[in-house]
Amino acid sequence: MAEETIFSKIIRREIPADILYQDELVTAFRDISPKAPTHILIVPNHLIPTANDMKASDELALGRMMTVAAKLAAEAGIAENGYRLIMNCNQHGGQEVYHIHIHLVGGEPLGPMLS
Ligand code: 5GP
Repeated sequence: MAEETIFSKIIRREIPADILYQDELVTAFRDISPKAPTHILIVPNHLIPTANDMKASDELALGRMMTVAAKLAAEAGIAENGYRLIMNCNQHGGQEVYHIHIHLVGGEPLGPMLS
């Protein structure tokens, strides 16, 4: 059984976060340490530790994460200029919190992804 992270507490509203969206499948909130003018995390409400753990039964929540990311990008006014959606996996991917999340990052030119 995978261990819960701080994101489960945010989803259950046990600790504060700037939650922008929540439904029965996913929650989106502002990153506590933003790397760009817009930096939002979109997470499934149930714990999936890493991208390696994604199952077919998670597809509804995973799809919702993507459409919510697009909706929040539009609401943030960054859709037309563009943005980046990122999911880090494990140590080499730079994952720090082991509850999968999409980073929605934008609001300025981001430069090349790998540098
Ligand atoms: P990772 O490196 O796992 O892809 O990204 C984890 C992200 O979660 C980081 O960008 C970090 O700033 C953010 N983060 C870590 N702890 C918290 C927290 O308690 N609240 C919020 N809102 N973001 C957090």
